[in-house]
Amino acid sequence: MSAEIIDGKAHAERLRAEVTEEVAALAARGLKPGLAVVLVGEDPASQIYVRSKGEQALAAGMHSVTHRLPTETSQGDLEALVARLNADPEIHGVLVQLPLPAHLDESRVIATLDPDKDVDGLTVTNAGRLVAGLPALVACTPMGCMILLKRTLPELSGKRAVVVGRSLLVGKPISQLLLAADCTVTMAHSRTRDLSDLCREAEILVAAVGRQRMIKGDWIRPGACVIDVGINRVPFDDPEKAAQGKTKVVGDVDFKTAREVAGWITPVPNGVGPMTVAVLLSNTVTAAKRQAGL
Ligand code: NDP
Repeated sequence: MSAEIIDGKAHAERLRAEVTEEVAALAARGLKPGLAVVLVGEDPASQIYVRSKGEQALAAGMHSVTHRLPTETSQGDLEALVARLNADPEIHGVLVQLPLPAHLDESRVIATLDPDKDVDGLTVTNAGRLVAGLPALVACTPMGCMILLKRTLPELSGKRAVVVGRSLLVGKPISQLLLAADCTVTMAHSRTRDLSDLCREAEILVAAVGRQRMIKGDWIRPGACVIDVGINRVPFDDPEKAAQGKTKVVGDVDFKTAREVAGWITPVPNGVGPMTVAVLLSNTVTAAKRQAGL
């Protein structure tokens, strides 16, 4: 039997519709959630992401500003801009698009962010609040994964979850979210032994590795729910397209073999990816409400 495909695009549309409704309700009370996105440099993928974030924020009825800075921007100028946005009452969420050009220190920029406006959940304060079980702004991609899981599985409590990958951006926060949902969580990484055996124990398997199609069908427990966070660019299988240098995006899970075993699976693209921006909007609304004391 083939797995049920988790349609991330449809779930993201639903979340965006909910956010749009909430933004309208807040507007009626005199509060317009505002998102500022900061892009430094010319990275083509980042330019696409940033444009999409700005457009979707506007489409949801939010106030949205994008600051595009040249590659040679200094650390001081970038931190000064973040400080200005921290102090701007019309801005409730600030997102600095990563990666930054190599001469800039990302962790120092993130440390400059007001944690209450840190809608990407990257500050140490928000990471700590998440671990402590306090209200936090949670990184958008892991939050998107959790929403997909909660809307797919009738019950998370007691489930055995394995998260492959332990980054600050994805692996660690998703593990904390699963733990908070009463799953029994194992975190795996590049030093984990017998990874395929471990994965086969998982009723929920989250792959956030960055290695194309690493997790095969025979690593998956029959009926498991598989969330594939990976975004890997590979040449087309079609030799003609490959010869033209065309690429496509695949996940960390070998979709073809995995879907024969799993109960549910997110495709790549159109699985986790679309949820990330939708959660960014939702986090901005949350931040706006908290800042207004609502
Ligand atoms: P990182 O490179 O920061 O982390 C990768 C993790 O995978 C590390 O913890 C690493 O272990 C682990 N790892 C690497 N190789 C292996 C291996 N052979 N076996 C087991 N574990 C391994 O990546 P991110 O967490 O930032 O991103 C992961 C993937 O998710 C990428 O493909 C990225 O593009 C994608 N992504 C997608 C997003 C979306 O919106 N859908 C958003 C963010 C990321 P160790 O710690 O030991 O080095």
